[in-house]
Amino acid sequence: MKNMHTITSATPSAAPPRRMRPPRVDWPALAPRVAALRAQGCSTRETARRLNMNIKTLEAHLRRHRIRHAIPMDRPDQVRRTCLNCDTAFVADGRFLRLCPECRAMFS
Ligand SMILES: [Zn+2]
Repeated sequence: MKNMHTITSATPSAAPPRRMRPPRVDWPALAPRVAALRAQGCSTRETARRLNMNIKTLEAHLRRHRIRHAIPMDRPDQVRRTCLNCDTAFVADGRFLRLCPECRAMFS
């Protein structure tokens, strides 16, 4: 019988195993994908699931970097803004809004 599997054991092992994941998250590579998914309206949970990563890892990253993309936007006409008064990042309903809801309430 000659139907034995020919295992490529004699291959010079120069190439690193491809399916191995690096232990740390490659943020420079992942960040654009995270931003893209979030721009599409994915929640943090959904983004983590699609990128096949731990939600806690993603949450920690978003918190650590305090990126403004962490604020989910419901509608395409909403704009990310930093409040002129208190510097808080918020999502405005229109691009002419420059004050966060709290400051707007305070001034009106
Ligand atoms: Zn404000």
